[in-house]
Amino acid sequence: MKCIFCGGSTGKKDVIFHYEDDHKYLFVENVPAEVCNSCGGKTYSLYS
Ligand SMILES: [Zn+2]
Repeated sequence: MKCIFCGGSTGKKDVIFHYEDDHKYLFVENVPAEVCNSCGGKTYSLYS
């Protein structure tokens, strides 16, 4: 698929997903994501 940030090509990779807001902190290891080869931007499969 294409990177949503720069339009570059992405590859599948397991990454660490972390999310934070005022009251919550979420940390999940080995989350499958598409990682951009150009800018390193991550698109999580969780969102698709
Ligand atoms: Zn990119």
